[in-house]
Amino acid sequence: MTEQPVERDLREIGRRVLAARADTLERGETFYPGPSRIHLASFPPKERWDDWVELDSKSWPERSERRYMLVPTTCFNCESACGLLAYVDKDTMQVRKFEGNPEHPGSRGRNCAKGPATLNQVTDPDRILYPLKRAGARGDGKWVQVTWNEALDEIAARIRKAIVEERQNEIMYHVGRPGEDGFTERVLASWGVDGHNSHTNVCSSGARSGYHYWSGIDRPSPDHANADVILLISSHLETGHYFNPHAQRIIEAKERGAKLIVVDTRLSNTATHADFWLAPHPGSEAAMNLAVANYLIQGDLYDRDYVRRWWNWEEYLARERPEAAPTFEAFEELLKELYAGYTFEYAERETGIAAATLEEVAAVVASAGTKLATHSWRSAAAGNLGGWQVSRTLFLLNALLGAIATEGGTFPNAWNKFVPKPIHTPPHPETWNDLTWPLEYPLALNELSFLLPHFLKEDRGRVDVYFTRVYNPVWTNPDGMSWVEVLTDETKIGMFVALTPTWNESAFFADYILPMGHASERHDVHSYEQYDAQWIGFRQPVLRTARERRGESIGDTREVNPGEVWEENEFWTELSWRIDPDGSLGIRQYHESKATPGTKLTVDEYYGWMFENSVPGLPERAAAEGLKPLDFMRRYGAFEIARKIGAVYEEEVPPQELEHVGESSFGRVYTAAPKPPATNIVPHGAPEGDGEGRRPVGVRIDGRILKGFPTPSGKLEFYSSTLADWGWREHAIPGYIKSHVHPDDLGPEGMVLISTFRLPVQIHTRSANAKWLDEIAHTNPLWIHPSDVERLGIDATDLVRVETEIGYFVVKPWITEGIRPGVVACSHHMGRWKLGGHPRGQGQMMATVNLGREDGGWKMSRKSGVAPYESSDPDTKRIWWTDVGVHQNLTFSVHPDPISGQHCWHQAVRVRRAEPGDSYGDIFVDTDKAAEVYRRWLELTRSADLVSPDGTRRPFWLMRPLKPAKAHFGLPDEVAQR
Ligand code: SF4
Repeated sequence: MTEQPVERDLREIGRRVLAARADTLERGETFYPGPSRIHLASFPPKERWDDWVELDSKSWPERSERRYMLVPTTCFNCESACGLLAYVDKDTMQVRKFEGNPEHPGSRGRNCAKGPATLNQVTDPDRILYPLKRAGARGDGKWVQVTWNEALDEIAARIRKAIVEERQNEIMYHVGRPGEDGFTERVLASWGVDGHNSHTNVCSSGARSGYHYWSGIDRPSPDHANADVILLISSHLETGHYFNPHAQRIIEAKERGAKLIVVDTRLSNTATHADFWLAPHPGSEAAMNLAVANYLIQGDLYDRDYVRRWWNWEEYLARERPEAAPTFEAFEELLKELYAGYTFEYAERETGIAAATLEEVAAVVASAGTKLATHSWRSAAAGNLGGWQVSRTLFLLNALLGAIATEGGTFPNAWNKFVPKPIHTPPHPETWNDLTWPLEYPLALNELSFLLPHFLKEDRGRVDVYFTRVYNPVWTNPDGMSWVEVLTDETKIGMFVALTPTWNESAFFADYILPMGHASERHDVHSYEQYDAQWIGFRQPVLRTARERRGESIGDTREVNPGEVWEENEFWTELSWRIDPDGSLGIRQYHESKATPGTKLTVDEYYGWMFENSVPGLPERAAAEGLKPLDFMRRYGAFEIARKIGAVYEEEVPPQELEHVGESSFGRVYTAAPKPPATNIVPHGAPEGDGEGRRPVGVRIDGRILKGFPTPSGKLEFYSSTLADWGWREHAIPGYIKSHVHPDDLGPEGMVLISTFRLPVQIHTRSANAKWLDEIAHTNPLWIHPSDVERLGIDATDLVRVETEIGYFVVKPWITEGIRPGVVACSHHMGRWKLGGHPRGQGQMMATVNLGREDGGWKMSRKSGVAPYESSDPDTKRIWWTDVGVHQNLTFSVHPDPISGQHCWHQAVRVRRAEPGDSYGDIFVDTDKAAEVYRRWLELTRSADLVSPDGTRRPFWLMRPLKPAKAHFGLPDEVAQR
């Protein structure tokens, strides 16, 4: 038989692979271990990163060599911050592709599809390359190109004026995923403004609250790789928090035989890998956790000694059960009483999961002992009223088994993360911003960002300069039309500056659009809790580093980036100098060089100082290779500082810290010794002193003074005195709060809409400019169970109307058994749009829409989907899809949880066949109704002026980004005097 050309090619490839392997073995290189100590034979050895040769795949069968310089950076497409290697073509000095960085200890050379798709973002033909200023009314779509100088001068003058006139609170910076540790907070602190506004209350503050009340630290760090049982309340293997670094470690655990339990109402890809897939009624997850906890408690299956040593049970007894004997045995009896009602039968009624299944799962959890890795992040904690109790009750399982900071257990994140100290540390702002931290939410962990339009409409204040960065509030937040209303009102927002690499729905209403760099076009440092270790990663403009390796000298990043794209760090430094050109406002000093006083701080000096002075072990590691620390980070992109951090809370407090010791009745130990110099300034809670100027330093456990947890008691707070003292005594211990979408409140036609799930290949508002990803996933049909389809009398070809409290959207159904009956789900990535008449936008993923007032509300209708178009990228002529999904978030009203402040995303909806006049993508929203819903949820709060036990606005120990000086924690005078 004649050999076909393809077979011949394959044979040739096989021969060459074998020859290459023989060559490798001959040189004694069996495999390339990298820092991860796993087999990474397919990665280019780091010794060859200056001159890496590959055959050009497109030239086959010609052997056409291409030579690359490999430069590391960090992916910016999700919070995982995986390492990337940019392949810089040495002939063109352009990036030809991105692959994984084997030197990165978190991601270990691996990426999801979004990592390599960074190339699409860099070469996106629709990206914004020059500063733009609006030329008509806001939202008219008319823009003129301006110089950076023009933009900087106008913005700086406006900020300076506000600061000089003591209107500091009118400056606001609203950030989505920051992707950096502390740079911009430092800038805002240097300006003396309490102007940080984050996306966290539409993302993770529910989960954070639950963890924070336990341990004083707001995130979990599960040691998945070493766990025996992994319990996830999320779709973690495909899209959850830190999912690629976690997913690879979860799979390692599964290979060892670990059991995987996945709680997800939707059949996610993660659920398909589970030993147990539990699909509870949305909002009932805490009841399920408590049934498992009760099984451990009633069966004496918990670690008694751990609970005795580390829970603040003595405080609970003293405060809540003073009649009981102050003994651990008495507490255990009460514990059994407290949770006896959470039987499997009760949980079955709440969750819809069979009691026998729950019992089986509980037995698996019990078998884990200290090797129980658990994780809950957005998901249920971000979906429901009281969602913060989902993470609090999940962590209860770890706390019962002693599976905290153990091998295979769950760590508080701060111990598996490292935030280096910067060259300058400005003081805490001397002001408090009520627009982001209102009195009604004294316990919210993050800013009430998504209520801003309502606060502005109520004239609680105004914003004079509003920055958005990696953030698109009109599209991302609930109630986007209320955002449009305030963004187009110059009396409420004086100037809107959108810092963004790409067009987005909010930027259309901006005054300035300033083009910022993608992952390979900017500097950042970051560190995330992904296993039991601490590492830092370094994002860098790769073309700058490549050209510097060739001996060129680069001034600022604009010299190497496309068009006039800048990086934020250099932008902030320049802006700060223009706000305070002569230094008289005290701002400039924090943006000046230390090496050459009176000149601007450069990114080289900023990061050079940081890596030299505040990253333990890095200078020595760099010196071993004859490098300076900054050069080491530019070469490898990441550094692992320490492994096997272990149980920090069990460590003894060093004797030198124990001067003038005082002690509370429950063992909290205070010291008057000076604070040791901070190297790791992870922002966790800062418990109050003892009233005599002494600071908490440890906790006495069985006679020894141990470091403990950064909670008021120093222990794990089963009982939160903070919740009790601030008006929420009924929720002071882990419990179950019935969700706003509880079946009791749904009504006969009500269904629950899950609107928050990610798709593996898209990421919120930032990946629509990645053509490879868009081709794979571009629409968001409504997941609906066949039994619901039958009940509602619709079929697969119908359109359906999904009606919310404030409007409706029209979408296509996707009939699947992968969702619970009575529940529908719609991914939140899709439904991007641009207004008709706007010449600009993301051509691959934005539908063109009409938007106007109609029938007492806002009506959006689709003019056209996407279509092939001419651009610098020939692939845009090959676009075959037209459908880009529906923007459901516009039809959601705000649902701020009264305790955590988290927006509760789940919607109680009515689903029915679309009406005859309805078209795909139609959206209707009544913002008056949105205001009513806002007021209804506001009534659920217990305001600081009514409940504060000590005349402050908020417990000082709770975490808070950009914490103001302590003096500003007091209630405002006019409130305090009431
Ligand atoms: S998980 Fe994917 S998107 Fe996220 S940082 Fe890693 S490669 Fe990038």
